[in-house]
Amino acid sequence: RWSRVKGRLRTSVGEDVYTSWFARMDLEGVQDESVHLSVPTRFLKSWIQAHYADRVLTCWQAEMPEVHRIDLTVRTAMRCAAPTKEATAPAEQRRIEQTNGRPASELRATAPVSASHDALGGSPLDPRLTFASFVIGRSNTLAHAAARQVAEGRRGDPVMFNPLYIHAGVGLGKTHLLQAVTWAGNSGSERKVLYLTAEKFMYGFVAALKTQTALAFKEALRGIDVLVIDDLQFLQGKSTQAEFCHTLNALIDAGRQVVIAADRPPSDLESLDDRVRSRLAGGLVVEMGSLGEELRLGILKSRVAAARAHHASFDVPEAVLDYLARTITHNGRDLEGAINRLLAHSKLNAQPVTLEMAEREVRDLIRPQEPKRIKIEDIQRVVARQYNVSRSDLLSSRRTANVVRPRQVAMYLAKTLTLRSLPEIGRRFGGRDHTTVLHAVRKIEALVARDIALSEEVESLKRQLQE
Ligand code: ADP
Ligand code: MG
Repeated sequence: RWSRVKGRLRTSVGEDVYTSWFARMDLEGVQDESVHLSVPTRFLKSWIQAHYADRVLTCWQAEMPEVHRIDLTVRTAMRCAAPTKEATAPAEQRRIEQTNGRPASELRATAPVSASHDALGGSPLDPRLTFASFVIGRSNTLAHAAARQVAEGRRGDPVMFNPLYIHAGVGLGKTHLLQAVTWAGNSGSERKVLYLTAEKFMYGFVAALKTQTALAFKEALRGIDVLVIDDLQFLQGKSTQAEFCHTLNALIDAGRQVVIAADRPPSDLESLDDRVRSRLAGGLVVEMGSLGEELRLGILKSRVAAARAHHASFDVPEAVLDYLARTITHNGRDLEGAINRLLAHSKLNAQPVTLEMAEREVRDLIRPQEPKRIKIEDIQRVVARQYNVSRSDLLSSRRTANVVRPRQVAMYLAKTLTLRSLPEIGRRFGGRDHTTVLHAVRKIEALVARDIALSEEVESLKRQLQE
């Protein structure tokens, strides 16, 4: 009987629509007047409910006139967070008979792939961000090797690590690496590689929801061989996250490759559901560290070479490159910016690049290393440990010699290593007056100047705190 119903449905909606939406619908059972059907995904369910409810019922009634209700459920146990409360409970149980009597226009079938095409355009790619221009250094060797491996895979190859999750701070090459994977994957292989920023994924999905093409969006996403998602930390909103999770699961289960970049490890993506986080952590998680000086020099040289392709006369002396690599320590973007400025400046003024020019032009890119924030509590803890006293001794009013000196050292360190004022430091040391703090600071300064042992002790404490 079930196969006869399916046959009717196929005739009723047409072959294409049938395979798009009903091929994976299963009969769970028939009880009295209700038929229980299941589909593998939430989207399929809501799509069928919204568009084909009465068609399904009619087909059943043709075979079994006593049927008056169709229950449609999602088959597999949900591994992903429910999109929103409203979308789950009551709506979930809504019987599809309730959609009887909808205007015919709502029952119109939508071609799944074409409808989603716009939403799946992918984010723009920068033609310069390829493997050829990616410089390998100590901090990115593993990430690069893994990305290469992924990019060189063929359709149907076993997937080695899934997802490949790359995390690093700003400007350390995440986007470069991800776009390199996309370029390499899309050229010369039959695989479909899609690069999307998390924002684009989000907007694509939201737009698809509005135009009721969410299912199409999702189905099209699942036709991708390699899905590359950049800046995952920006993925927001319960329903997008749930959708992302479904997509992730579907792709990974189908043996498709997923590559992700974010500015933090999976465990720190606070807004994501636990199950998504553990799925993300279940592949290969690689961190790219800060750019070492050698790597910075390599990136600068690669940028100069790229610029010379269009401006043959542009040249940056070794000494200038060294200077830039040594002083611009923050991120790849500043390195790129520095070369762009030197290029612009030397072009506009028809001057060769010199060290003086470099010093003048990139001054604002040379930010001092952000000092590590040292807390007064840390200072008290480290000093107490060093001198074998307790932290409460340091804060107490005891004036025995074995406590007084460590206390003075701790106050001195608080003054030199933090930006706290003298009164503030006094407060944090058991409510002392700022003159007491000042006295301690002067005392230690004087002692350090002539007592080598103390001076070394203080240096060692500073090092411990700065690590
Ligand atoms: P992120 O996405 O991690 O913030 P990007 O990939 O946008 O960083 O990198 C910032 C800039 O630094 C880009 O111009 C990029 O080409 C360059 N860059 C970073 N790492 C490398 C590298 N290993 N080789 C070449 N260029 C790099
Ligand atoms: Mg980026």
